[in-house]
Amino acid sequence: MSTYAAPLKDMLFAIRDIAGLSEVTALPGCEEVNAELVGQVLGEAGKFAREVLDPLNRQGDREGARLVDGAVSAPPGFKEAYRQFVAAGWNGLGGRTQYGGQGLPHIVAMPVQEIWNGACLSFCIAPMLTAGVLEALGVHGSAEQHKVYFPRLTSGEWSGTMNLTEPQAGSDLSAVRTRAVPEGEHYRIQGTKIFITWGEHDMTDNIVHLVLARTPDAPEGVKGISLFIVPKFVPKGDGTPGERNDIRCVSIEHKMGIRATPTCVLAYGDSTGAIGHLVGEKHRGLQYMFTMMNHARLCVGLEGVALAERAYQHALEYAKTRVQGREIGQRSGDRVTIIHHPDVRRMLLSMKAQVEAMRALAYTTAALLDKSKHHPDPAEKRRSQALLDLLTPVVKGWCTEQAVEIASTGVQVHGGMGFIEETGAAQYLRDTRITTIYEGTTGIQANDLVGRKVGAEKGATALALIGVMRKISAQLDAVEGTPPSLRGNLTEAIDSLEKATRWIVDTFPGDPKAVAASAVPYLKLFGTVAGGWVMARAALIASAQLQQPDADREFLEAKLATARFYAEHELPKAGAFAREVTHGAASVLAFEPSKF
Ligand SMILES: Cc1cc2nc3c(=O)[nH]c(=O)nc-3n(C[C@H](O)[C@H](O)[C@H](O)COP(=O)(O)OP(=O)(O)OC[C@H]3O[C@@H](n4cnc5c(N)ncnc54)[C@H](O)[C@@H]3O)c2cc1C
Repeated sequence: MSTYAAPLKDMLFAIRDIAGLSEVTALPGCEEVNAELVGQVLGEAGKFAREVLDPLNRQGDREGARLVDGAVSAPPGFKEAYRQFVAAGWNGLGGRTQYGGQGLPHIVAMPVQEIWNGACLSFCIAPMLTAGVLEALGVHGSAEQHKVYFPRLTSGEWSGTMNLTEPQAGSDLSAVRTRAVPEGEHYRIQGTKIFITWGEHDMTDNIVHLVLARTPDAPEGVKGISLFIVPKFVPKGDGTPGERNDIRCVSIEHKMGIRATPTCVLAYGDSTGAIGHLVGEKHRGLQYMFTMMNHARLCVGLEGVALAERAYQHALEYAKTRVQGREIGQRSGDRVTIIHHPDVRRMLLSMKAQVEAMRALAYTTAALLDKSKHHPDPAEKRRSQALLDLLTPVVKGWCTEQAVEIASTGVQVHGGMGFIEETGAAQYLRDTRITTIYEGTTGIQANDLVGRKVGAEKGATALALIGVMRKISAQLDAVEGTPPSLRGNLTEAIDSLEKATRWIVDTFPGDPKAVAASAVPYLKLFGTVAGGWVMARAALIASAQLQQPDADREFLEAKLATARFYAEHELPKAGAFAREVTHGAASVLAFEPSKF
């Protein structure tokens, strides 16, 4: 069984050189951050992940969370690990300084999140959700709500959850039925929420649920949904946990993966009605919840990056030790480890190259999140926000779809042992499988990309980004040492993306069904080409750094090798995706539901 090692060199390269750390540290409020500090934070996080979280991963998977008489206990070791996590200040890494947080920008906090995900995904979904609640309350909560909830959520004394899903309301949140009836200063909440991650547990003194519900005067559909804070224990005047609220964990799910997280069915208001407080204005709840969801979507994209990295590390270790057969063309002599077989090397390189591209794209998007919040120039702030909006469904959808494929390749590298649970490779595949589903399925991300993003703004941001990609592609010729195949294959892939984007823009107004049928191939096309764009930037930077006398040659030459592999094995897929986008819808639409 391998031990998780945070890939610090590649993470730092992606943060500093590709995502542009110095542009973020020049922003107001981010000035105290520098590359040295980032290196220290990542190093410490890597140590904590290896020593405290990694040992929980297998054990948590085997033991799972338990529900006894309405009380949920986390698997053995989780409570103590959470205590250490909070005591070390990790929970407040990105939190506001006036409430005890460390105020680090997303370009640092998100890579740290990748480290937690890589070591033990089940554990770190709890603090990720708490950070999401803080994001949403930070923007939409009142000063009084900040005062009560921020210090304790920032320290990790309390945790947070998001409560959207109901049995009849999954992807379609307009069907939410949970009711919120006004009663003096608060509301009484009644209804059932399902699939609530870390919805009940014993790691914190209180759990703060953000709940979507309808008031009696609410109009039908998404416009009638409001957002409420519904705590497990209603805080007293001094902010400490008071009376137990009317929320009951009815059951926890038996799942394919992330088995250590309790996924709860929560019954609100079986007795008197749970006390909840409105966030912001009535009927704007879904819009507010999107602040949390967009944050969570990026984090789930990072879960994909992290689990793919973990699967790669595991497969690599196995490939270096498993002896099988001889070198191709050799009839005698020593048997070799499987890493000597070209096909195994192809599998490992595909995992490594894709993970590097996914990481670079995810961090680039995290930097956009910082710029969209802090940039002093309003035009640059708007541009960053538009790019962030465009890339969020790509990071969520593409990184997670790739991760499932990569984790599956990880099983393949192990041969039969990959299928056997004790090897550990299967857990990464099982754990990864949820990432394309929760926080909006890939289909929903793709609808968002082609509809609200590309279609609605006539491709303005997408085409602007394509222009940026072309400039990078053009630079490749001028820089010695970059792989020759990169320039040609990237240019062709960008052409494919532009053609498909123009098709989406032209088709969307008159035939949105055709665009919906092509949405997922378009999302995959976008991710593949965006991955090529960041790999091209990596190659340009690596070539330049190789000219320096103190260059880390091994790392930089490997970077050029993965950029080349990506160009020759991944970018050619762009043409096929683009043809699927522009010519694939008719066959789907012709086969109507009644024909199945
Ligand atoms: C382990 C786990 C943890 C979760 N954690 C949380 C949580 O903490 N909080 C929370 O609120 N929810 C949570 N969820 C719920 C999760 O977000 C939903 O399962 C997800 O959004 C999909 O909804 P659904 O399961 O109802 O599937 P459905 O909406 O029924 O979708 C079924 C299929 O139809 C497709 N589909 C549906 N509508 C469309 C459409 N308009 N266009 C194209 N395709 C469509 C989907 O892509 C999918 O393939 C969790 C779920 C799981 C399994």
